[in-house]
Amino acid sequence: MTVKFVELLALMALGSLYGWYAASIFWVFAGCLAAAVAWLLLEQYRFARVLKWLRDEDWANEPSVAHVWGVLVERIRKLQKSLSGKAKDSQSRLDEFLSAIQASPNGVVLLDNQSRIEWANETAGEHLGIDPQRDLMQHVTNLIRDPVFLSYLGKGEFDSEISIQGIRKAGFQSLTVAVRVHPYGKKRKLMLSRDVTAVQQAEAMRRDFVANVSHEIRTPLTVLSGFVETLQTLELEEADRAHYLSLMAQQAERMQSLVSDLLTLSKLEGSPTPNRQGTVLASQLIEKCASDAQGLSEVLAGGSHRFSVDISQDAHLAGSPEELTSALGNLMSNAVRYTPAGGEISVGFRVLPDGDASLWVSDTGPGIAAEHLPRLTERFYRVDRSRSRETGGTGLGLAIVKHVIQRHGGQVNISSTLGKGSVFELHFPGDRVRRLSSHLH
Ligand code: ADP
Repeated sequence: MTVKFVELLALMALGSLYGWYAASIFWVFAGCLAAAVAWLLLEQYRFARVLKWLRDEDWANEPSVAHVWGVLVERIRKLQKSLSGKAKDSQSRLDEFLSAIQASPNGVVLLDNQSRIEWANETAGEHLGIDPQRDLMQHVTNLIRDPVFLSYLGKGEFDSEISIQGIRKAGFQSLTVAVRVHPYGKKRKLMLSRDVTAVQQAEAMRRDFVANVSHEIRTPLTVLSGFVETLQTLELEEADRAHYLSLMAQQAERMQSLVSDLLTLSKLEGSPTPNRQGTVLASQLIEKCASDAQGLSEVLAGGSHRFSVDISQDAHLAGSPEELTSALGNLMSNAVRYTPAGGEISVGFRVLPDGDASLWVSDTGPGIAAEHLPRLTERFYRVDRSRSRETGGTGLGLAIVKHVIQRHGGQVNISSTLGKGSVFELHFPGDRVRRLSSHLH
């Protein structure tokens, strides 16, 4: 400040010196005044430069101004530097925080006090069909129109979550999303969303499964208890008694095979995949299952089915011999059970040129319409319900087959022509096939 004052005095002294030189007291005053005005203009000019620098925020090019303005510019520069450092710091922390929320498998939406979207992560966008950039500051109720959601938000009772149908942008699969709102701050809301499609599907499958099992068990049980009641209440001829008892034995057997298939399935689901140490020779596997199938054909069709075996090249299959026997056994038993008397059933094995192997069972049975094929390996899915029951089917055979082959890294392929017959192929990957050097014909 003193410097400024000295500057002003110096200018005024110069002005008055000029007045003295002009030898008039008036000019001394006038000189002083002119000097003061010039000084003010100079100050104004310096002030304007500092102001422009501040306004333009052109921090790199600070104006070179003298004295107190210079000190001011220097101070502002330092302050600005420290502030921008702090701002950068908090920006990078905010960025890290947001990218952590972005990485979350849950959808996160921040709503302001009027339920407008302040921020949303990509996952929320995918769950709720909102665009995290474009839809900022939009009312969430304009974007999520599900009535369940609208009433949930409207009521303002957020102690539980709701399930709504989400919108999957890619593809047309349905999506179920659980949404929960957590109020915070001044009427703001944090909205979290979770994809519960798989959980709900698993839950629905579990419910279906329990319902199916109960139904399958209840039918023979009802029949059984009916016969028990008959035997208890009626005086029966010996022949009738024997007939009823044999029907009862059939129902008991049906329940037994159901329980046994259920146990097989649960064992398959709960155990680790079979290692590659165990092996079974394809020809032996076929021989065993074919002889069981012939036995079944004796019972069901008086042995009238014609069987043929086609093994072009034998090989060892690595995995669980027990499981593979059960899989092929199920396919062969199906072929016998669904092919009318006199039909042909053939079973074969082949190592393919790429080293994979194919084990198949074909029959000249009724065939299966194409629309059933994708669902055939589902538990309890039956095309011919009555034939399945009559021949002791549980509806679980192909589900077991699919499990077994998948556990061996392969897949089941089914092809069928209505009225002509079906082919069920077990396709094994090469790493489960150990070739033999000799060829069988
Ligand atoms: P099931 O115990 O009822 O035979 P599966 O799971 O083994 O159950 O088979 C499912 C359904 O697929 C059967 O109910 C039957 O309708 C059909 N199916 C299976 N194998 C054959 C076949 N070889 N020919 C015609 N239909 C078949």
